[in-house]
Amino acid sequence: MMTTALLPFEFEKPAETAAQESLDPQDWDAFRELAHRMLDRMIDHQRNAADLPTWQPVPESVEARFKEGPPLAGKGAESAYEDFLELVLPYPTGNTSPRFWGWVSGTGSPSGMVAEMLTGGFNALSGTFNDASARVESQVIDWMRLALGYPKGMSGVFTSGGSVANLIGLAVARDSISDQDIPRWGLQEGEIDGQEIERDRGRLVFYASAEVHSSVLKAAQILGLGREAMRTVPVDENFRIRLPELRAAIERDRALGYRPFAIVGNAGTVNTGATDDLNALADIAARERLWLHVDGAFGALVRLSPGNAHQVAGLERADSVAFDFHKWMYVPYEAGCVLIRDVESHRRPFTVSASYLEALPRGIAAQPDSTNLSSLQLSRGFKALKVWLLLKEHGFERYGRLIERNIEQARYLAARVEREPELELLAPVPLNIVCFRYVDGALDPEATNELNRELLMRLQEEGLAVPSSTVLDGRFAIRVAITNHRSRLTDFDFLVDQVIRLGRQITREVTR
Ligand SMILES: *Cc1c(COP(=O)(O)O)cnc(C)c1O
Repeated sequence: MMTTALLPFEFEKPAETAAQESLDPQDWDAFRELAHRMLDRMIDHQRNAADLPTWQPVPESVEARFKEGPPLAGKGAESAYEDFLELVLPYPTGNTSPRFWGWVSGTGSPSGMVAEMLTGGFNALSGTFNDASARVESQVIDWMRLALGYPKGMSGVFTSGGSVANLIGLAVARDSISDQDIPRWGLQEGEIDGQEIERDRGRLVFYASAEVHSSVLKAAQILGLGREAMRTVPVDENFRIRLPELRAAIERDRALGYRPFAIVGNAGTVNTGATDDLNALADIAARERLWLHVDGAFGALVRLSPGNAHQVAGLERADSVAFDFHKWMYVPYEAGCVLIRDVESHRRPFTVSASYLEALPRGIAAQPDSTNLSSLQLSRGFKALKVWLLLKEHGFERYGRLIERNIEQARYLAARVEREPELELLAPVPLNIVCFRYVDGALDPEATNELNRELLMRLQEEGLAVPSSTVLDGRFAIRVAITNHRSRLTDFDFLVDQVIRLGRQITREVTR
């Protein structure tokens, strides 16, 4: 027994038994049996995806169970699993179904599900240490770099999704402004510790079209730029950024003393799947010395389909690009990615030193390029493993074919809508998104919007299919975004039939 200044208490060895409590099962055989049952149940869930209702509301009786207080004493794995079967599994978002086309939601896959289990068992702090996870992540990033047409040596990091990928892209763009040490001094002006921080160089502004995803505005808010720093450029009839207006806005802002620093281009807008003229944006960015970030959350993956890759031409000229694996590569949630052309720029917003995170010459900490320096996160799940496994299983070519088929299905649906006198197509269909509505000559514009809103909710509530909605030029649109490897043409025929049936039914109700 001893006491020192660092250990100012008496120490006695605590008692310990062989059966000491931990989170490991007490009976491994019983655990194995339960785990196998769980796996079988979820394989059935994936296999029967087409036969289940696409979505159903959570009933009140189940809702009440979610008000139960915290479990102080545990009731065991079997009982917890029963709660999952009763309270969770019957009420999914629905995106495993072949008839789910809401927002931009990936389907997942059986192999993806099992890959998540391998990830959980392996439980890596991905990218931080000298282990396999860092190698897997950098290999997948290099494959994606090649697939999207970027040069060797490009930097990148896995993210939770497109939102954080856009946030990182915009942060890197902001901090790449050469004569301002924003990571050190921030965006505020004034004196700090005798150092005068000048901001008379003008406010930072960047440019994106009116169709840009809301996550870019969110990023502007978080990064201290403010939403107003995004100069919103109008779009043409194909929902693509208007280039003359963009050039004029940059010129006007410079004349007013603002400091333009970036353009955010769209490869596949969330509303209609439109892609900006990325080559023209790259030209403008080069001439104006602006950073070009492309939000390609789903659209960037069009590069994998040889017959459609031309639609996102110029993508390979961006300084950074954000995309998701969990949308158009059908990888289970979550997995997104950002690629950044210049490694040094990528590190800038995230580099801080900490003695406890120092790399050592050997051992686990011998990781020369920790993702801690390229992301907001320190501890990160091993998202790259499922992508690595799925790419090895299916190959890039299969993903190209599935993406191509989703585009063909969108064209098929658009053609069916065009043929039906009661339906109206509301936007061009360059990729995988179809916006349309039900129309009846007797109804005015406001009533038509009301009808379609009601129609969409019934479609979802009856468990038939899940499109989502948007508003285009004041018109409420039923919006079908196809990032679904399970959909078949008959699913789209079914959708059209049901929309017409419900449209007639609601028209009868409101005009009676
Ligand atoms: C989905 C989406 C995002 C956001 O990505 P998350 O993975 O949901 O964070 C950004 N941009 C576009 C165009 C999207 O479709």
